[in-house]
Amino acid sequence: MIYFDNSSTTKPCEQAISAASKVLSGTWGNPSSLHKMGLEAEKLIISARQAVAKSINADEREIFFTSGATESNNTAIFSSALTKGKRRKKIITTATEHPSVSAAIKRLEDKGFEVVRIIPSENGEISTSEVIRHVDKNTLLVSIIMVNNETGTVNDISTLFKAVKATDTEVYTHTDAVQGFLKIPVNAKTLCADMISLSGHKVYAPKGTGAIYVKKGLNLKPFIVGGGQESGFRSGTESVPLICAFAEAAKAYSKTQDERYKKAVLLRQRLKERTLALDGVYLHEFKSCLPYINSLTVMGYKSETLLHFLEEREIYVSSGSACSKGKKSEVLKAFGYSDSELDSTLRISFCADNTEDEVDRLMDEIQNAMNSLVRIKR
Ligand code: PMP
Repeated sequence: MIYFDNSSTTKPCEQAISAASKVLSGTWGNPSSLHKMGLEAEKLIISARQAVAKSINADEREIFFTSGATESNNTAIFSSALTKGKRRKKIITTATEHPSVSAAIKRLEDKGFEVVRIIPSENGEISTSEVIRHVDKNTLLVSIIMVNNETGTVNDISTLFKAVKATDTEVYTHTDAVQGFLKIPVNAKTLCADMISLSGHKVYAPKGTGAIYVKKGLNLKPFIVGGGQESGFRSGTESVPLICAFAEAAKAYSKTQDERYKKAVLLRQRLKERTLALDGVYLHEFKSCLPYINSLTVMGYKSETLLHFLEEREIYVSSGSACSKGKKSEVLKAFGYSDSELDSTLRISFCADNTEDEVDRLMDEIQNAMNSLVRIKR
């Protein structure tokens, strides 16, 4: 089996599995309980919070655990609106956000907020001057994805957000850092982001856990209310097993961050070399691209058909983005992909356990597919 769909989800690491199972069988108390069992569970959350905070150089009081990045993104957007949305009614974002950001923003747009969606330039960049041009006294929030989940393009969040804050310190800044977290340096102290969304299952923790960083002193109103857990910012009994697994996965990843990155660079290089030898197959390259996420067009062949051809040979990839479930990707459109490219693009996403031989197998099978599958008629 060859797994090249690591941007959809990753295989939980041993450390995460062992942390979760230890809590499930031993420390299953409710962290809000005042007795010993509750305190033991609470202690585990405190230490997990410290670990996750450390992984992005944040203060532990700035980390709030959530059920994943979808919730973190919804929280960032709706909490901003709940806090200052009566006075400020404009949101600046990009046309390349994950649906958990774009759909939340669309909901506010339907309620009367003005939304500006910046389209990336030809080289995949979001222009700082264009963002700033739209910032005014009515601006509530600037929300920009850190690393795009379909193309791997990296946005220079600190430059963008520094400029936003220099224009108006009152504007909230939020980044969906899911695909950048631990892959590239994410430093909460220098990023100029008021809010940062993180997900566990992209970094070898189980699904259903994540966090939102909220800068100290922001005083955001909570989006989820109830029993007042997570210092009142995110109610709901904390999932101690998943939180501990998330923290252990983040710790393990941090230790081997550089080697993993180097490996991904090597794998991307091999992928590129192999595509150069195949007519009509190419890797989309932008000015700044994360080597883990590779957008590969096989011109003339339907991506879904290719995906299943590869699946039959136990090679797992994604068509565009797993979240788009076969629909034409609006995000790739915004990146300037032509209609025929939209139909014929696969996402090959690496982890450090992948090998160059696996890349060779993938490319051999793509070549076989091109020899045996019917081309799209136009
Ligand atoms: N943002 C991005 C960029 C993502 O890739 C994903 C996962 N597909 C999410 C948000 C949502 O994360 P989660 O699955 O933890 O809700």
